[in-house]
Amino acid sequence: MNITLSKPDILEIIQQHVELKQKGARYWGLCLFHTEKTPSLMVDTERQTFICFGCGVGGDVVTFIRKLHGVDFRGALTLLGMSGKPYGPSPELQRQRELIKDYRRRLQAYEDRLCGYLRQAASANNKYGQRPM
Ligand SMILES: [Zn+2]
Repeated sequence: MNITLSKPDILEIIQQHVELKQKGARYWGLCLFHTEKTPSLMVDTERQTFICFGCGVGGDVVTFIRKLHGVDFRGALTLLGMSGKPYGPSPELQRQRELIKDYRRRLQAYEDRLCGYLRQAASANNKYGQRPM
């Protein structure tokens, strides 16, 4: 195994699993390793490390993958494409994400139509001297 291959960017990898928000030089997101409502998972792109201030999990990109997938060091390297295969979400996960995106698009379109309809109805009511909805 060629372990001189450079590690993939930690931000890129974690972003595939967690929605991260940039604050200054660091990125924050909801931790995958414990349940939380406010982000305490921090990614330090300069050091290429992550740490969760909620549950204490932290390390480099290999640690992240090991914890996430429950694999050993070699397994993590394989998943990270350091054995030649690019790392990415599984096809199943990608499919689910597409479905969610599509659903959101439809919901947005529906809401837009509904808003337009309600506005129309309200202005029509006004025209006839009735109170708006
Ligand atoms: Zn945590």
